[in-house]
Amino acid sequence: MRIVVASKNPDKLREVEAVLARLGPPVEVVDDADWPDVAETADDLEGNALLKARAAAAATGLAAIADDTGLEVEALGGAPGVYSARYAGPRATYAENVAKLLAELEGVADRRARFRTVVAFVTPDGREATVEGVLEGRITTEPRGRGGFGYDPVFEVDGRTLAELSEEEKNRISHRARALRRLAELLDETVDAPEPRSEGRDRDPGERTAVNPS
Ligand code: IMP
Repeated sequence: MRIVVASKNPDKLREVEAVLARLGPPVEVVDDADWPDVAETADDLEGNALLKARAAAAATGLAAIADDTGLEVEALGGAPGVYSARYAGPRATYAENVAKLLAELEGVADRRARFRTVVAFVTPDGREATVEGVLEGRITTEPRGRGGFGYDPVFEVDGRTLAELSEEEKNRISHRARALRRLAELLDETVDAPEPRSEGRDRDPGERTAVNPS
């Protein structure tokens, strides 16, 4: 199956393609496709992921996947969540968003947070599925590390920020990788496996699936 990765964010594209390549799902990633910019107007991650994947599938006539990701901070009631990209303003840079987050959490002891990614899969004939991946961690008091992107320098898991991990290490544990792993299993089941699989690994607790074939 040829599949379009509907993202104009080069940081995300690199991660999605690396994870899919490692998983080896029955897909060929098409990364030179073009489609219109999509306003992320939904009020949840799932809605925005579906908007982007539907637009790419309609524009290219190919199956498409799109991800939408939010950082949910416990002490901020789940903010910035679906608004993570524009936390510090409509065209905020990664550094501005990180600075605002650290300012909001100044003096706050509860630093628990999670990344949540929803990946939507949409075919041109209207089949749709969404999968979710979650990574639990905590927000540091200052940025550390030079890798990754976005909030990675202030998101710590097991004593290291995601920006202190190699690309491969991040792609092994990340919220995005967890969602894509679930998607790969789903495609595998849909494309290759008419019989239910008897083996199968235990589901990672950070993975969730919803399928909505029309
Ligand atoms: P989007 O709406 O899915 O494009 O992402 C929302 C924002 O979350 C991005 O602008 C990034 O700042 C941040 N983000 C998304 N994925 C990651 C990640 O893997 N690590 C750190 N920040 C991320």
